[in-house]
Amino acid sequence: MYSISKRELKTIEDDILTENKSIDVRGWDIESNKADDIEPNISDISNNFCETNRDVYLKEVEGIEPKPNEAMVKGSVCHSIIKYIFEHGKKFQRGKLDKQKIIKKAKKIAQSEKRFEEILWENDQLNKIEDLSKIQNVPYDDLLTELFEWSSKIIENEIEHIEDNWTSIEGNILQLKKIEEFVDGRGLGMGWGRIDLIGKIEDDIIIFDLKTGKPYKENWYSKLQIAGYALAFENKEGIPVDLGGLIFPLDDEKLPRSTPFKDFFYINNELRKSLLKRKEKIINILKKDSPPKKAKKGCKWCSLKGECNNL
Ligand code: SF4
Repeated sequence: MYSISKRELKTIEDDILTENKSIDVRGWDIESNKADDIEPNISDISNNFCETNRDVYLKEVEGIEPKPNEAMVKGSVCHSIIKYIFEHGKKFQRGKLDKQKIIKKAKKIAQSEKRFEEILWENDQLNKIEDLSKIQNVPYDDLLTELFEWSSKIIENEIEHIEDNWTSIEGNILQLKKIEEFVDGRGLGMGWGRIDLIGKIEDDIIIFDLKTGKPYKENWYSKLQIAGYALAFENKEGIPVDLGGLIFPLDDEKLPRSTPFKDFFYINNELRKSLLKRKEKIINILKKDSPPKKAKKGCKWCSLKGECNNL
């Protein structure tokens, strides 16, 4: 998942790190317009689920909480399990990832529904499964077992990937710096964001984002989200962040892939400028007295559907 094979590293070194690195949009150089006093979250700025951005207005202005749906709960469960495995799979010295530790932790979860449930409990996830069981009218135990089987497949894929690739990434190309780290975007007129993993490949910082939807051709909006995290991180820490990595462990939003699809990219000027432009657009929407009109498509899977229709 967050491990990088020799082939992936070669792509990063040959195709991405060789790009023209003249970045003129750095987080530490940007001054925000504090007069706005509206600070949309980074994921709301980069999210394009609702084509009119009505969803952002409903959440940020009307204070409507999304109802859990299957995709959201699966995403949350997947994040918690992967977080646990990698957080507990590093050597204490210098944050290096440890193959044996990761595999041991991962196998224990993949083979025991009880252990799986315990980790979800520790990470405050069981209430989401309870809510979904009520909404879907499915017994809690059945839902838990379904999620366990689905997660086990992802974990087993990851164990296989680590066993096959680890020798080529030893020597510690990837160092784990932080996992599930909050980043404060307020210095740039944005809200908070949560970075899945901050790693380091030699001297370059890389931000990873784990996606539980399906990949798109360009993954443009997912890349915008990472650009937002990078700008916020640069603004707070004064350290450049040039690399992004998207990881998609699922096929068709349902089935775990045997090898996660990964998209590594350089966080270039175009992404940075587009994210800042989009931030202005979302702030202007949030300043209005009424929400944008309804979208023409995508509503079937929207977690705000009920409230949106009643407004
Ligand atoms: S239900 Fe449709 S219009 Fe309403 S927020 Fe969701 S996607 Fe947008």
